[in-house]
Amino acid sequence: MTKRYGLMGGTFNPVHLGHLMISEYIREEMHLDEIIFIPTGNPPHKETLDAKLRYEMVKLATDENPYFSTSDIETTREYTSYTIDTIEALEKQLDGKLYFIIGSDTLFQLKTWKKKEKLLKKVEFICAIRPDYVSEQILELELKYLQDKYGAVIHIVPTPMYEVSSTDLRGRIAEGKSVKYLIPKEVIAYIEEKGLYR
Ligand code: ATP
Repeated sequence: MTKRYGLMGGTFNPVHLGHLMISEYIREEMHLDEIIFIPTGNPPHKETLDAKLRYEMVKLATDENPYFSTSDIETTREYTSYTIDTIEALEKQLDGKLYFIIGSDTLFQLKTWKKKEKLLKKVEFICAIRPDYVSEQILELELKYLQDKYGAVIHIVPTPMYEVSSTDLRGRIAEGKSVKYLIPKEVIAYIEEKGLYR
């Protein structure tokens, strides 16, 4: 049988339980065999935590789930990699069908991605609804637009809503507040040990 892979791309600055929860939920709902987390490399003009540290946190977070793995394909590249390049490289390495997992905020950014026409034709997307201010109607319009204009196939998978974002978590850590039950404990220990986000 063809293996089904879910690719979970993100900055993961830092990885949090929202990322893990939607991935596990989607894995079951969409009958995926494996979820590969792909932290982004260092963007040229954006201030973000070094890719190696973000990769290590994702690795710590995914290690205990036998269905999860973490790829360094983007974090070890010299140049900025775009999702389309990553998917084309993974297609050569993996034998199976690839799905790209996103939260609904990312759905609205897809039309700005590099080589979107090719990307949206190449892989099917799986979208988890993220608690935000976008109405169902606006979401439907965006889905229809991506479908009609690019032939995109986007599966919406209802998952529990979990209102946590890396931005908020960085703020909490900077303020010395607890992030217990929001970030995996191995990752909290890593953040404390390295003194990140202070
Ligand atoms: P930031 O606050 O820094 O933008 P983030 O929490 O959105 O970070 P990313 O690493 O950018 O985290 O997210 C990776 C992917 O996970 C994106 O597609 C995003 O939409 C999705 N995602 C992140 N948090 C959630 C959540 N709480 N529920 C559903 N999807 C999420």
